[in-house]
Amino acid sequence: MFKKILVANRGEIALRVICACKELGIRAVAIYSEADRNSLHVRFADEAICIGPPQLGLSYLNIPAVISAAEIANVDAIHPGYGLLSENANFAEVCASCGIKFIGPPPEVIRLMGEKEKARAAMKKHGVPILPGSDGVVATDAEAMEWARQVGFPVIIKASAGGGGRGMRIVRNEDDLPTLYQQAQSEASKAFGNGDLYMEKYVENPRHIEFQVLADEHGNVVSLGERECSIQRRHQKLLEESPSVQVTPELRQQIGGVLSKTLSAVGYQNAGTVEFLMDQDRRLHFIEMNTRIQVEHPVTEMVTDVDLVKSQIMIAAGANLADVLQGPIVHRGHAIECRINAEHPEKFTPSAGKITTFNPPGGTGVRIDTAAYTEGTIPPYYDSLIAKLIVRGKDRNEAISRMSRALEMFIVEGIYTTIPLHRRILADPEFRAGKFDTGFIERFLAKKLEIAG
Ligand code: ADP
Repeated sequence: MFKKILVANRGEIALRVICACKELGIRAVAIYSEADRNSLHVRFADEAICIGPPQLGLSYLNIPAVISAAEIANVDAIHPGYGLLSENANFAEVCASCGIKFIGPPPEVIRLMGEKEKARAAMKKHGVPILPGSDGVVATDAEAMEWARQVGFPVIIKASAGGGGRGMRIVRNEDDLPTLYQQAQSEASKAFGNGDLYMEKYVENPRHIEFQVLADEHGNVVSLGERECSIQRRHQKLLEESPSVQVTPELRQQIGGVLSKTLSAVGYQNAGTVEFLMDQDRRLHFIEMNTRIQVEHPVTEMVTDVDLVKSQIMIAAGANLADVLQGPIVHRGHAIECRINAEHPEKFTPSAGKITTFNPPGGTGVRIDTAAYTEGTIPPYYDSLIAKLIVRGKDRNEAISRMSRALEMFIVEGIYTTIPLHRRILADPEFRAGKFDTGFIERFLAKKLEIAG
């Protein structure tokens, strides 16, 4: 087993990884920017190294600085968390060349899944259902038009290197295609330094359902079931749950089986998430794979009792999946996660500053993953996620009641948060009935405005 791990991240996920290290008896080394000097991940790590000024490019995304810290601390491995360097194949390669284990899949697999049209082709080859779309990159708007006619409107143009919903455009008719193609291309070039685009059939009112997998370094892969992530705003998830009311045990088993075979064939290792869209006939279609731990991993942990971060570390140290899991995956109860962002609940603008009161809820079945505290400061430089509130209930109704009361008891003062928005979502009849899709939030916000108007 590793003796020392560097945690190449900040905020709640850095703390989450430190928790896993402590439970495994591994020393954790934190890195931090000058803006995070007083952060809890710094306080609870066994060692901490300042790696630069607040700007991401000069600190958490600065590969030479991160690697130097790892070498100074003499660590065996690096856990990248999510975001930042977690899906950077070059970083994984640099780690390997320095003799440091990158806790994640091999660089070539990160690269394959990072080029989304190649990932689509790989999934299709092994029998995972994908949406009709282009074969690879569409190089010009004329080529895009050809595919669109073949697939039928509406279509969605997506960035090959996409993430965070950027470089994506829905095209409903031929006239709009050239302009939307140019827009997607320039947005993708700016965001990812890569303007490659591909195309898919656009699914009306889909659900976003994703499957959590774990794969060891000996060819064994297991699926830990699904998470329902349809409550999103501008393609960013706000609330997640497991299981999905739309996934039957048969479907869960069928998809789990296909994914195990496919991921074993592509040489997948460590934790990963395979994202699907479900159409109105309840068919699942692959959209992309994330080769890292996800923000919403706790809902799977709550219903399976598997510690995914500890599993990642054990797998990276060479353990067999059978030894990591010690038995079959059993799903019990229902879990919900609310992402608490430091932003205005209606305007969705970031709200950095000092937290004057931070009173997280507790009680049966409640979990909080956060690095926030009273008198702590939310710096303006980073992601707005400040806490994840997760509950488990014996069924969906109990989970909803538990989440509602936990949100009521969650007091954050000094900054705006999305707590009030979540309270209203939890009270919404459409949400309570489980009848929603990725268009839920737009409809929900429009409904509110009508009442207000
Ligand atoms: P990103 O990596 O930028 O987040 P994804 O491919 O994961 O992009 O898609 C993000 C979201 O965009 C999905 O959850 C869904 O709401 C919407 N979306 C993506 N592809 C389609 C599609 N073919 N049809 C309908 N909606 C889509």
